Amino acid sequence: MVTQYKNLINGEMISTTDMLDVVNPANEEVIGQVPACGQAELDQAVAAARAAFKTWKKTPLEERRAAIMAISGAIKENADELFRLLTSEQGKPHQQAKGEIYGAAAISAAQSTLELEDEINEDSDARLSRTRRVPVGVVGGIVPWNFPVMMAIQKIVPAMLSGCTIVLKTSPFTPLTTLRIAELIADKVPAGVVNIITGNDDLGPMITSHPDIDKITFTGSTATGKKIMEGASADLKRITLELGGNDASIVMPDADPKKVAEQLFWSSFQNAGQVCIAAKRIYIHEDIYDELSAAIAEYASQVKVGDGAQQGTGVGPIQNKKQFDRVVELIEDAKDNGYKFLVGGETDPSGSGYYVPITILDNPPEDARIVAEEQFGPVMPLMKFSSEEEVIERANNSEYGLAGAVWTADAEKGVEIAEQLETGTVWVNEFMHLSPFAPFGGHKQSGFGAEYGKEGLKEFTYPQVITVKKDNVPA
Ligand code: NAD
Repeated sequence: MVTQYKNLINGEMISTTDMLDVVNPANEEVIGQVPACGQAELDQAVAAARAAFKTWKKTPLEERRAAIMAISGAIKENADELFRLLTSEQGKPHQQAKGEIYGAAAISAAQSTLELEDEINEDSDARLSRTRRVPVGVVGGIVPWNFPVMMAIQKIVPAMLSGCTIVLKTSPFTPLTTLRIAELIADKVPAGVVNIITGNDDLGPMITSHPDIDKITFTGSTATGKKIMEGASADLKRITLELGGNDASIVMPDADPKKVAEQLFWSSFQNAGQVCIAAKRIYIHEDIYDELSAAIAEYASQVKVGDGAQQGTGVGPIQNKKQFDRVVELIEDAKDNGYKFLVGGETDPSGSGYYVPITILDNPPEDARIVAEEQFGPVMPLMKFSSEEEVIERANNSEYGLAGAVWTADAEKGVEIAEQLETGTVWVNEFMHLSPFAPFGGHKQSGFGAEYGKEGLKEFTYPQVITVKKDNVPA
């Protein structure tokens, strides 16, 4: 008997007659069923969030923080069960699933310490003018399948902290762990403040166009982000969009191949490459190209691809069939064009489980699809460059602008290059580090607005200016 999960609406765990199957990408077996919510359930969730907003927005900050800490605690206390469930629906190896679960608990706790203080605009004999931040209202959160728990938490926590209430929709591919968390927190958060619902892709547009939702916070593909922006324009909903990326890593000639090979590998292959901020194009200076590409290939040969629930697996399956087909298509395109493979390239769509072997391409051209597009899978193109000016231009030659990295023995030079990259985040000598206190967001078509830090929190609020004329008291 397959486990049936429920949705959280108005503090209650509810079900629907229609259910959706959820599949383990490691073996394609159905591992759970979740409600297929439609307009009626969405309306219920939005009404509950609207009703709860009346009191939640006036609830003292300390109480809102305490509710967030209760969520953080529930995740931590049940981490063992949650990370196993996450691997079974998402595919990532246990170690990485543990990282996501404990990371979500830690980030909730850290973010709960943020505060948006009032700002004084003028304090003169004539007047006192101050800006305060007021919550926008009911938030619709929509998340993808690559980091389902982290992304859900990234939306729920700042919404709650700012005084908003939220209706969160999971990805239909990865709803289970989030719904288990919903069950764990149902009695820890006032009814209606957090609602978590599941449904098909048609539920997303219903959220975007819902007249009683004030803001959409979305993480997912750039293509869907554009549809959301269009849908939200009807009633000028506020929007935050965290979208795709085609992040470039630049390895300068003074970087030691032995020191960076393993890190470069994981900057691309963590979560089987299904990370928005994964290194998706790696540019290596020609002086060290041969040595470094050989070192990366050597490291890759020791990493095991397989079921994330098995010990020793480093790279799990692709999360779903659609994405698997897309990654296979990109590999086939590289073969058709005669590009050289350093590692992998052999795909077998006939087996059970969505496995793609670790694949590394040797210096494909800049206009190759694998270089120009976001692959979102375990395929890494390594490219040769000869001058700093050239590599900066190539790195910036993208409609995306999410993140990037520079690897060099000269940190000052690293910063000089970082400042010329057209992305929201740039790391020098590390990768994928995000801080709950620093804004994270994309430039160009990688996003709109930011998450994390005070800047991220502000996105859930409107500024309100209160001005008191001191020398005109009508009495
Ligand atoms: P997706 O855009 O297909 O789906 C994301 C979510 O949107 C899902 O919940 C889906 O059901 C919903 N959705 C689909 N169509 C919709 C519509 N018309 N209106 C409203 N909602 C709709 O993305 P995905 O395939 O789940 O995720 C992969 C993408 O997410 C990649 O491009 C990746 O780079 C990006 N991503 C970005 C970040 C970031 O922080 N910038 C983080 C993780 C993933």
